[in-house]
Amino acid sequence: MGDPKGFMKYDRKVFQYEDPKSRLAHWKEFLKPLSEEELKQQGGRCMDCGIPFCHTGTLMSGMASGCPINNLIPEWNDLVYRGEWQEALDRLHKTNNFPEFTGRVCPAPCEGSCVLGINEPPVTIKNIERTIIDKGFDAGWVKPDRPKTRTGKKVAVIGSGPAGLAAAAQLNKAGHTVTVFERADRIGGLLMYGIPNPKLDKTIIQRRVDLMAKAGVKFVTNTEVGKNYPAEKLTKEFDGIILAGGATKPRDLPIEGRSLKGIHFAMAFLHANTKSLLDGRRNGQFISAEGKHVIVIGGGDTGTDCVATAMRHKCKSLVQLEILPKPPLERAPSNPWPEWPKVYVLDYGQQEAKAVFGSDPRQYLVTAKKFVGNESGAVKELHLVSIEWQKDPNGRFIPKEVPGSEKVIPADLVLLAMGFLGPEDFLLDQLKIERDQRSNAKADYGQYATNVPGIFAAGDMRRGQSLVVWAINEGRGAARALDEYLMGATDLPA
Ligand SMILES: Cc1cc2nc3c(=O)[nH]c(=O)nc-3n(C[C@H](O)[C@H](O)[C@H](O)COP(=O)(O)OP(=O)(O)OC[C@H]3O[C@@H](n4cnc5c(N)ncnc54)[C@H](O)[C@@H]3O)c2cc1C
Ligand code: SF4
Repeated sequence: MGDPKGFMKYDRKVFQYEDPKSRLAHWKEFLKPLSEEELKQQGGRCMDCGIPFCHTGTLMSGMASGCPINNLIPEWNDLVYRGEWQEALDRLHKTNNFPEFTGRVCPAPCEGSCVLGINEPPVTIKNIERTIIDKGFDAGWVKPDRPKTRTGKKVAVIGSGPAGLAAAAQLNKAGHTVTVFERADRIGGLLMYGIPNPKLDKTIIQRRVDLMAKAGVKFVTNTEVGKNYPAEKLTKEFDGIILAGGATKPRDLPIEGRSLKGIHFAMAFLHANTKSLLDGRRNGQFISAEGKHVIVIGGGDTGTDCVATAMRHKCKSLVQLEILPKPPLERAPSNPWPEWPKVYVLDYGQQEAKAVFGSDPRQYLVTAKKFVGNESGAVKELHLVSIEWQKDPNGRFIPKEVPGSEKVIPADLVLLAMGFLGPEDFLLDQLKIERDQRSNAKADYGQYATNVPGIFAAGDMRRGQSLVVWAINEGRGAARALDEYLMGATDLPA
């Protein structure tokens, strides 16, 4: 522990956001890093408590508590305090293949369970993680991780999101010959085409993909296994397979008027937007929010990303609907430390909407009733209604409409961001993979083996839509399981 009194001497400091109005003028990342001296002090706030909950990575009340990849947080905090950045980077890479992704997009459940956070603001863990890796890249310390020998085994990874990439990196390290198949034109899964550029610049992903390619991983894009690459070919040509295709089936809203023009799934909007930025031109899929009354249905991360993107398009107005109540400003008694704090946060997209339109765009405890169109079949308004959550005879909470609360709001563009229902069927069906009750690929957490020998499943395809950090955790775990299956033993960490 660097400074035994650090947590008493220094206040918590985090990266500052660029002013919302100014960052709306561009698509770049907008966090302003702390200085090296400030970060050393922040590392010095770590108390090296007896039981560091920050790196436990368990589920409590259904949410992550502590770091799901068990990052050795107190160890690198101490190294940063002492200025030993390269050693801190080595320690970070032991548990995390891609700290440059998590250091940008992870919601940091580690900070929610930091012991200092019981009665003081927690240690600035996520910003320290990001600085360690950014510094590592700047200094040229991050090199391709080439194996010394090859095993002669061929492995296929389907899907190039964080789960597939983590699995590929680990299996390559173990000496297997790894091919990653991706149906999109670029590698990265939701890192590339889901999370918008201002949160995670796409050059950051490409930099890591290039390193992995130099280390020997083969990437094949524009190839949808089960459609333009037969699934049987895969099982014949490879000794082992990791399924990491994500949970991409969106939840729909089958209400009156759903088929009107101008109503889209969030991912159609986000994907086409990022693609147009990267290609330098708009194609036929691009959906513009410019000058439009935009309604985002769904108050989660995907909804927030739609808000931020529509704001950069210069929409005319923006409303975000959330069926749940507004969270409290501080932890409720039923949500104690070290659980994930379910508190009100004005995230980046809502900050931007507030800066332009004067208030948080979210409306809570409301649901959409019907869409109404104009004479050319395009949506023009949304009818919504307030709801109350009441218990049914079985004790389950269900939404009940509040009589007389119907409202009509203008709508030119509606983005459906109500979550995802699980993986697509065709590949799992062709490979005869059993499903769990939620239609995900059935494989136990920690084992990752499906019912078909040699085929393992990881990430959102196995656990349902989740977080980047869980996807990395599962990709690493599935790689270990497959390595053991192929070789009879494994040295890969879980
Ligand atoms: C808009 C949005 C924003 C998010 N923001 C955050 C955030 O800020 N922080 C966070 O931690 N999490 C966030 N998440 C969740 C996070 O992105 C996912 O949990 C994570 O990416 C899952 O990783 P994965 O590798 O399992 O799957 P994915 O990232 O979904 O990758 C799966 C890949 O498999 C490919 N694929 C599917 N089937 C095939 C096939 N048959 N052949 C070839 N390729 C195939 C897909 O094209 C896709 O590229 C967000 C999710 C969304 C939708
Ligand atoms: S990966 Fe996420 S939970 Fe783990 S240390 Fe980084 S920010 Fe915290």
